[in-house]
Amino acid sequence: MGVAAEQIRSLHKYEKTILLALERGMKRYAWVPLDEIRASTGLAESEINYRVARLMAWGMVRFNPVPYDGYALVFGGYDALALATLARKGTISALGAKIGEGKESIVHDALGLGPVAIKFHRVGGRSFASARLNRDYMPGQGHCPWLIASKKSAEREYEALTRLHPHVSVPLPVDQNRHAVVMALINGQNLNRCRLVAPKEMLEQILDCTRRAYKVGIIHADLSEYNILIEDEKAVIIDWPQWIGTDHPNAETIVERDIDNILAFFSRKYRLDYPRKDAVSGVVG
Ligand code: ATP
Ligand code: MN
Repeated sequence: MGVAAEQIRSLHKYEKTILLALERGMKRYAWVPLDEIRASTGLAESEINYRVARLMAWGMVRFNPVPYDGYALVFGGYDALALATLARKGTISALGAKIGEGKESIVHDALGLGPVAIKFHRVGGRSFASARLNRDYMPGQGHCPWLIASKKSAEREYEALTRLHPHVSVPLPVDQNRHAVVMALINGQNLNRCRLVAPKEMLEQILDCTRRAYKVGIIHADLSEYNILIEDEKAVIIDWPQWIGTDHPNAETIVERDIDNILAFFSRKYRLDYPRKDAVSGVVG
């Protein structure tokens, strides 16, 4: 399921009110009772029923009748809220096509002050959703792990980009809201899909990025040919939510794993055997 771009433009103010009420309600309920929506929005039940039916048709809300009628926000609805906020702030004016889909995110291009990429983090959707289905009324906290985890992931990525830019070649961070990160759109291909003419220079560029990040105090921790974009012969390192600090107890092992991933890729694809000792000391030395 993608981001409901068309619906965002046509989202009625009551629909937005209901999405916001569900977002708040999900701090206390796995399925927000209809009564709660009525109380927190002040809308009539007939209005809520009509609006919620539309939100469900767009894949923004789900309904569960057992043991009471309850509604839950799903990723599509969370996307719509983030987009509405980013649009209101003027960060983006239009959402474009899907340009990437990873295990834990969906990336679209969009129009901001210039061309931007918007990454919606989607952490733990499926596994958490099924856990949620098995429970009923659960006041207290932590029933909405996917929402919290996805927001946290976006915040972490934004923090890394903010600290790294411009010391390291990463997309310029533009804005962040909920589970969404807005950053400069990189015009290029993932390294795994490139055919490099000067692989050794590229490898050294990437090691230099790794070294500069390390100096800032940040280790990528998922560095691979898939998380590097090549724009005009220049490497841009993306996908930072899992970064760790250089003060992490396993920092050394983790940065070496990053380096090994890159060395292995260049060795495999370009038969380039760069001395591991030089690579590691170049980064952390
Ligand atoms: P995976 O789980 O597969 O590692 P992910 O969900 O962690 O991916 P990213 O790697 O950040 O997400 O992004 C997914 C894809 O979207 C990237 O491989 C890339 O093709 C595209 N992409 C991400 N950010 C940008 C950007 N700023 N500019 C252009 N394309 C981007
Ligand atoms: Mn990735």
